[in-house]
Amino acid sequence: MADIKTTCPYCGVGCGVTATTSEAGVSVRGDESHPANNGRLCVKGSALGDTVGLERRLLYPQVDGLRASWDHAAQQIARRMQDTIKRYGPDAVAFYVSGQLLTEDYYVANKLMKGFIGSANIDTNSRLCMSTAVAAHKQIFGSDSVPGCYEDLELADLVILVGSNMAWTHPVVYQRIIAAKKARPSLQIVVIDPRRTATADSADSHLQLTPGSDGYLFDGLLAYAIANDHLDHEFIAAHTDGFAAMAAACSARNASLAVTATATGLSEVALDAFYAQVCATPKTVTVFSQGINQAAAGVDNASAILQCHLALGQIGKSGAGAFSMTGQPNAMGGREVGGLANQLAAHMDILKPEHRDLVSRFWQTADLAPRPGLKAVDMFEAMASGKIRFVWIIATNPLVSLPDANRVRDALIACDCVVVSDCVDDTDTLRLADIRLPAAGWGEKDGTVTNSERCISRQRAFLPLPGEAKPDWWALSQVAKHLGHAQAFDYSNSAAIFREHAALSAFENNGSRDFNIGALATCSDADYDALMPVQWPMPIAKPEGTARLFSDGHFFTASGRAQFIDAHPQAAKTSSPNLPFLLNSGRIRDQWHTMTRTGRSARLLSHIAEPFIALHPDDLAQIGAEHEQLLSVHNSFGECVVPAMADSGIARGHAFMPIHWSASNASQARVGSLVAPLCDPVSGQPAFKQSPVAITPL
Ligand code: SF4
Repeated sequence: MADIKTTCPYCGVGCGVTATTSEAGVSVRGDESHPANNGRLCVKGSALGDTVGLERRLLYPQVDGLRASWDHAAQQIARRMQDTIKRYGPDAVAFYVSGQLLTEDYYVANKLMKGFIGSANIDTNSRLCMSTAVAAHKQIFGSDSVPGCYEDLELADLVILVGSNMAWTHPVVYQRIIAAKKARPSLQIVVIDPRRTATADSADSHLQLTPGSDGYLFDGLLAYAIANDHLDHEFIAAHTDGFAAMAAACSARNASLAVTATATGLSEVALDAFYAQVCATPKTVTVFSQGINQAAAGVDNASAILQCHLALGQIGKSGAGAFSMTGQPNAMGGREVGGLANQLAAHMDILKPEHRDLVSRFWQTADLAPRPGLKAVDMFEAMASGKIRFVWIIATNPLVSLPDANRVRDALIACDCVVVSDCVDDTDTLRLADIRLPAAGWGEKDGTVTNSERCISRQRAFLPLPGEAKPDWWALSQVAKHLGHAQAFDYSNSAAIFREHAALSAFENNGSRDFNIGALATCSDADYDALMPVQWPMPIAKPEGTARLFSDGHFFTASGRAQFIDAHPQAAKTSSPNLPFLLNSGRIRDQWHTMTRTGRSARLLSHIAEPFIALHPDDLAQIGAEHEQLLSVHNSFGECVVPAMADSGIARGHAFMPIHWSASNASQARVGSLVAPLCDPVSGQPAFKQSPVAITPL
């Protein structure tokens, strides 16, 4: 029996896990030394031991339905990619990857596509999760940087949770807030959510606003702070630009309490009380997640939140700040290595010639992608229309998770070659693969992840690789060698990749770029193996890392000052006589993504075993249906058939479905098939939250 310290692979909290293997199997407990969870685990993390094992694993490479050697599979991938590039150019190939990848896998995939294939057509399911927060951080702070840390949520006097059912989606951070409140009851919790959720149930107040009206709520807060002079004038003058223009635009919109009340569906009394509370509480943290990010005006909504904190001087201090909670365990690590189609590695910008030059010299390549690639939804549309002919999908199931899921099926069918790397043997996406590659899973692969508070932690291998499964970085490197890039991808282990990634972050970085982990660039294999959790930035001069950013008032814009912008709110989608319900989608407490792993645990399935659509009981009565009756949910994009769940926490005219079920788990509840491919114009993040649908009893 041996104890191995690793991290949980299920959510952006990034809890430390101690795993023990014995003849009886794998057991896990919370790692008391990990700063994210201090020994806590939620029910998903606690069930990790149930989800390892050989059942339903993809164990061997397959090419065109036949078992193949790794060498033959890598050769075939390289040849088919080269044929496509020869005929149609480098932008006819694409990689679609995942926030489940370890940072080292992500780094190699990004380097191969952007550095050596010469296209930036690599995007990730993190596009569906955090790209809105990335864009807002960049335009306001000058970099994709989360300012604070989890401890701020315990030190705050007011925690605002907006667009987040944290009790179910990030349970351990939620438990930390609740424990802090128990120890200090004056800590106030406000939940802003159109649904009454488990999180709202334990809050001091719940603002049940009109779906999609968050931008109006925070624009109203700015207007209130300006009108009542609650601004931090000293901070604004010393550390920001653009305040006067932003304030003028905000005033011109006349975001009075009455106007905001109409837009949000909240009473003027409730708004006045909330705004007064925020303005009177210097130690306020606003946590935002998918309810903000997955919206057609998501970047404006997130920017409005960041700007409220700047205007009130509630940032860069302990217990104060805006905090983006990432959905996936390594959504942030992927961003660090440039996993999004519009980024370069180490938070550099593909549109900046000086960054392109720097990365080209570091990688010693003359083929760096000249322009941003296609973002996720556009990437699959380019496959459907024949512009992209080859795609390699790694550790994700886009046939279930992307919007307009039926169109995604058409897109993959239209491709000349679809390669899928996964650790399980059956997903909706794998069924359409020409080449299948068996990937190492949790407990079998070695590398790092970065959680929502910028903390880099190790995921450690403690199980043998099953069958012929391999880490994704290894598979990518084999293909790179067959493409003629053996020298640039000659990695002996994940430590070697990490050292290169750390060295690039520090390369010619005089402090103008936020992401710098140069202190780790020369770590030995043993140092890497023993790496303790640490928050970036950690340049050579500060190896202990950084808990809070912007404490010195310095931001990562060219001027060093934060930028106010005109983030104007927009109305969300509305229902119509033909499509009278607005459908929201999200996670449930005990499942993860498309259930490829958590679906294997009987105890996790015992919480909610079947898909459902939640509706207000009066709406159920109005359509002539009852609790648990099968309903058809449909619009022009597709149809789902699911049992009804009566839920008085849902507002009239609205509905909620979980995102987890799909054809491969034998349901007709693939909610993505009902979602329009409508994205925020800046971030490209799809608007998953308000899909107009009709609902009829069967
Ligand atoms: Fe895993 Fe997230 Fe639960 Fe922590 S809170 S144990 S990271 S699922």
